[in-house]
Amino acid sequence: MAYAVKEAFLTLQGEGVQAGSRAVFLRFAGCNLWSGREEDRRKAVCQFCDTDFVGTDGVGGGKFADAVALGAHVAALWGDQRERRLVVVTGGEPMLQLDAALVDALHAEDFRIAVESNGTIAATPGIDWLCISPKAGSEVVQRSGDELKLVWPQAGFDPAALERWDFAHFLVQPMDCADGKAALEAAIALAMERPRWRLTLQAHKIIGLR
Ligand code: SF4
Repeated sequence: MAYAVKEAFLTLQGEGVQAGSRAVFLRFAGCNLWSGREEDRRKAVCQFCDTDFVGTDGVGGGKFADAVALGAHVAALWGDQRERRLVVVTGGEPMLQLDAALVDALHAEDFRIAVESNGTIAATPGIDWLCISPKAGSEVVQRSGDELKLVWPQAGFDPAALERWDFAHFLVQPMDCADGKAALEAAIALAMERPRWRLTLQAHKIIGLR
């Protein structure tokens, strides 16, 4: 199958359990919870998105004819080092495009595959690190993985109920919104009240990385 990539670049993972790790970010175009157009935001299921995932015009983006071509593109961005290759597959919603062929192609290039998904589509087998960030108002079918990252506050979520999902790590991340201070305080309060949750910040925004 062909793949539509918004952008792809080498950076440090900025958030979550693997924060600080060198990684190629592979951002797919498109999401199933918002069109990405501002005029549609108010009626979207997910209304707080902070990411441009529309089109294929970003740095390192484009259309790729098959999995091997996209795997080679990711490998070229990483460079010659063979050790601890990590690709973070994100979006948009990556499960719209991440199929078995691409999992195989990235593994063939010696990458560990980390994925950041909204959980509304079952994860493709073979992913090495699965982070699910659920969105209120959506039907989350993928309720197991390595990392549950809850953007907070979100009306409609009960953290106690989410703790029954099958994840190794539970992270709470303040929402990037107009009242960021209140969101940070709410996230801190959740982590203080419920010890299974750990606070994660978007370090790449704080230090000015992409
Ligand atoms: S689910 Fe993720 S990518 Fe899609 S609109 Fe929401 S935050 Fe953005």
